[in-house]
Amino acid sequence: MGNRWPVQATADRLMNATKKKVAHLHEHGCTPHLAVVLVGEDPASKVYVEHKIRACKSLGIHSTFKNLPDNSSTEDLLSAVRELNQNPRVHGILVQLPLPKHIEEQQVIHAIDPSKDVDGFHPINVGLLSLGQEGLFPCTPMGVMELLKDGGIPLKGKHAVIVGRSNIVGKPMAQLLLKEHCTVTILHSRTVNPEALCKQADIVVVAVGRPGLVDASWLKPGAWVVDIGINQITEKADAERLLKASGKKMANFIEKGHQLYGDVNYLSALQVADKVTPVPGGVGKLTIAHLMYNCTLAAERMVST
Ligand code: NDP
Repeated sequence: MGNRWPVQATADRLMNATKKKVAHLHEHGCTPHLAVVLVGEDPASKVYVEHKIRACKSLGIHSTFKNLPDNSSTEDLLSAVRELNQNPRVHGILVQLPLPKHIEEQQVIHAIDPSKDVDGFHPINVGLLSLGQEGLFPCTPMGVMELLKDGGIPLKGKHAVIVGRSNIVGKPMAQLLLKEHCTVTILHSRTVNPEALCKQADIVVVAVGRPGLVDASWLKPGAWVVDIGINQITEKADAERLLKASGKKMANFIEKGHQLYGDVNYLSALQVADKVTPVPGGVGKLTIAHLMYNCTLAAERMVST
């Protein structure tokens, strides 16, 4: 029987390290400044933005929030981004994704100044990551690397399986694990027999957006399992299948009609794995902590140039 992975300890360490960097910058007359742009009123996006702004406040990072109307055009958003690029007091720019369908997301990401691209999605930063050079890199995979390093066992030579190959999670996760000399396998929706491949892994990182996809039958005894997925369970059949074993989550589903759930069947995975990150209360904290770190890093680099 494995353990709940103590994600909070790593998030606290990261936040404390950033707090020290912010204090140092304050002493040199610079307040790191994150600008967050949201298009529309999507409630989930608004909650994510609130969390980011709250984290800024807790660390002494200045934040600005620009909420553009839902019917804004790509050009409206590009012009907001250009303005922030040119503002020397802004160190980090984050455009909250997903954007409404009518907006050219890639065009917007490409428009962000790479030195202010705290999400690490700009092609320059993607290239720097794959070259193993310095840049700004995606917050969720970077946060996961901090968690793995806190595990206290060398990553060198470990077999890591990543389930999911998105540009924002799966692919950068693979680059970061390769950099630490892991042997990396990436699984995706067309992979044949993913369970058997996953079962070979010492480290499993799952980011697919399919509630409970990975369970004990996918895992090798003693594996470390990082669940990045965040899914909202709203269907009774899914609740019956996944929440029955957890009285608290089922009770919450019955009361509210929805329940957050990861891509990993947590209770099943714990039967085999050494440790598993929970959802909710898992890697989301690391994503925010690393966003704060990236913003401070961007400010430091601007001050020193
Ligand atoms: P995407 O939808 O962009 O990518 C999903 C990936 O999963 C794709 O590569 C897809 O394969 C693969 N996939 C889908 N179904 C299967 C399957 N049955 N077997 C194997 N692979 C499969 O998602 P994201 O990477 O953006 O996000 C994934 C999850 O992580 C979501 O739940 C999201 O909410 C969450 N997330 C959480 C964050 C956090 O801070 N905790 C941050 C970012 C994301 P293919 O390429 O073949 O289609």
